[in-house]
Amino acid sequence: MTGIGEHEPLDNVDAGRRPDRIEARFLTSAPTLRECPSEDLPEVAIVGRSNAGKSSVLNQLTRNRQLARTSKTPGRTQLLNFFETSLGGRLVDLPGYGYARVAKTQKHVWENHVDAYLANREQLAATVLVMDIRHSFEAFDVMMVEWAQQSDLPMHVLLNKADKLKHGAQQDTLRAARKRLVGGLFTVQLFSAQTGLGRDEAIERLTRWLTPILSRASGDEQAG
Ligand code: GDP
Repeated sequence: MTGIGEHEPLDNVDAGRRPDRIEARFLTSAPTLRECPSEDLPEVAIVGRSNAGKSSVLNQLTRNRQLARTSKTPGRTQLLNFFETSLGGRLVDLPGYGYARVAKTQKHVWENHVDAYLANREQLAATVLVMDIRHSFEAFDVMMVEWAQQSDLPMHVLLNKADKLKHGAQQDTLRAARKRLVGGLFTVQLFSAQTGLGRDEAIERLTRWLTPILSRASGDEQAG
């Protein structure tokens, strides 16, 4: 087992129905919180610094190339992009962040819209933080981890591009990440969008959050 959370394995809740991919399709883009879809369905927001591999991760989990391309379409890169899933809940691709050369104004756009979404979105059930395993816990990542802690919101961390490291180095980084991510809110795993390493575990985690009845049960656990 590579997660550090306290949740039961999904099999115990819904045996025999584990999907081998998350069926998802583009729903809509929203420039601001006010324009986000209104239905009360659980949302899982995916965040990561640019180039950490967020689009590739989405691709790998949904097996839908179209989906990740949608978020990279010019004009959509600064928007909150919503994807509906067959599980009921929605995946929300938040704008990428963190190029060294990013303009200050762009940073402000990110902060305003993404901040508002993260701070006020009632449907938000959990977040997924994608990090490049070779450059983990950069300033942006630390900010997101601290935010999750303060907001009491579950966060699943993917140490992506694990294929770039040898087995020993992967395990060392995983251990170090677990040490930093203390508390029941966090789970962390090795992942490779390129090879599919860690796919099943990530799908299991997301399925729990994206399925309304399971997501509510996790929320109750958290509250209690
Ligand atoms: P984004 O900016 O976070 O959406 O990142 P992309 O998904 O566009 O990926 C950035 C670069 O990293 C691309 O060249 C990908 O092919 C590469 N990449 C993404 N995930 C992996 C991975 O797991 N392993 C390797 N080796 N390369 C990856």
